Amino acid sequence: MKVLFVSWELAPFFKLGGLGDISKSLPKALSSIGVDIRVIVPFYKVFKFFGQRKKKVNEFFLDYDGKKNRIEIYQISFLDEDIPVYLLKNADYLSIPFDDTFPFFNLAITKIIEKDLLKWTPEIIHCNDHHTGLIPFLIKHNGLPFKTLFTIHNLIFQGQQLVDKIEKMGIDSKKCRVLRWEIKKRQINFLTEAIIHTDLINTVSPTYAKEILTEEYGAGLDEILNSKKDKIYGILNGIDYDFGSPLKDKNIIYHYKADSQTTDNYPQKIYSVIEGKKLNKLYLQEKLGLSVNEKIPLFGFIGRFDAKQKGLDIMHKMLRRLNFNKYQFVFLGHGDENWETRYFWFSSFYPKSVYCRFEFNEKLASQIYAAADFLLIPSKFEPCGLIQMIAMRYGTLPIARATGGLKDSIEDGVDGFLFDDYSSSDLERKLKFAIKIWREDKKRYHQMVKVAMNKDFSWDKSAKEYLSLYQKLLEQ
Ligand code: ADP
Repeated sequence: MKVLFVSWELAPFFKLGGLGDISKSLPKALSSIGVDIRVIVPFYKVFKFFGQRKKKVNEFFLDYDGKKNRIEIYQISFLDEDIPVYLLKNADYLSIPFDDTFPFFNLAITKIIEKDLLKWTPEIIHCNDHHTGLIPFLIKHNGLPFKTLFTIHNLIFQGQQLVDKIEKMGIDSKKCRVLRWEIKKRQINFLTEAIIHTDLINTVSPTYAKEILTEEYGAGLDEILNSKKDKIYGILNGIDYDFGSPLKDKNIIYHYKADSQTTDNYPQKIYSVIEGKKLNKLYLQEKLGLSVNEKIPLFGFIGRFDAKQKGLDIMHKMLRRLNFNKYQFVFLGHGDENWETRYFWFSSFYPKSVYCRFEFNEKLASQIYAAADFLLIPSKFEPCGLIQMIAMRYGTLPIARATGGLKDSIEDGVDGFLFDDYSSSDLERKLKFAIKIWREDKKRYHQMVKVAMNKDFSWDKSAKEYLSLYQKLLEQ
């Protein structure tokens, strides 16, 4: 089975959020169960190669916006794995992302498979998010014999652009099947086009697959999605077990393990989870200028500062009510400047209790996962979420809203905490309940940590589910 996996983010070369992680881990897991999978991404200026060697495998010209544009195809190996990754290089459209990048990229992909420019013909094109949204349309419009699976990682990002992009691709917008009402507004919506034209759709958790059919979570596309209900599936993401573990993470000082793990062959000293987390906490408190005291519960937050999704408003409202002598918070993330300023206010007034860092910082993220007692994830919606899985792997219990992938991956009171209402009061109630267990029922708390650390979030199960979707596609 041959699959071309198309994405615009790929960790560790270029990553903004969860999609970058998934584009790395899922192909790896699929390759290990026998899928001949190859990954293709734009070659951005910011791409970091980490010493990887790249070789040019082909070049071609693409007609776009009335010009012939030269595209070079480079290939690298996927870090230590034997999965070819192709990079498409064009200085005008693909080096810094802007509106034309995505139609240009989508058209280039279609041309590559149509003309067999990789000297390898996929049967399935696995598209990810709106950046690849026109590929299913282009395949259908050109009558090409490829099946498409479209994965929605986040419905909120839809990629709306002027309809001139269709014309720039050399297609008469009056003669093609792009959605008429969007055309009237002189806009096309990449995600809508993908939903209409793709053969199968999946989202990144079973709960989110159901939620997006409702008006509340449908981001304006619930009616279209309902009309395609029979071809929508939900598959929970996994996390990469080769990286990001408190046993091996190079970003943390004190390595530790779950009670059940054996660590005879590790070169460095390995602590028990209780001791290891305590040492990491004291280290981080000191490093960030917080009061150094293991008895104060430490809460972490790691994620994009996205006011629509990540629950910044209810968390902020709750913080305004708390007594900062009793709690500590570390916020890591960046995005909405207004919210950054509002959170910064807490850290400037309560520097011994609140620390904020508004940037992408993998080292600090690891140190928070290792040091915090709890991770706050008060999301309004969360298609899957990786942070709760990473936190649990580090023995840090998530306190999360029961939505999307959070609901599918956390068992309330067993390996984390879930609250239902999107409100500061429900969040506060759950936070205080969690602290009560942490303070007064150590036995239960340690049991929860143990269950969380041993929970299986490896990609194996999800990869098998993707394989069966691929099989379904080929049987269609
Ligand atoms: P989303 O895809 O909505 O951004 P996820 O929970 O799926 O959220 O994935 C977020 C990923 O990005 C996780 O690996 C998390 O550790 C990482 N991450 C998010 N923000 C930061 C940050 N500011 N610094 C370092 N890593 C971050």
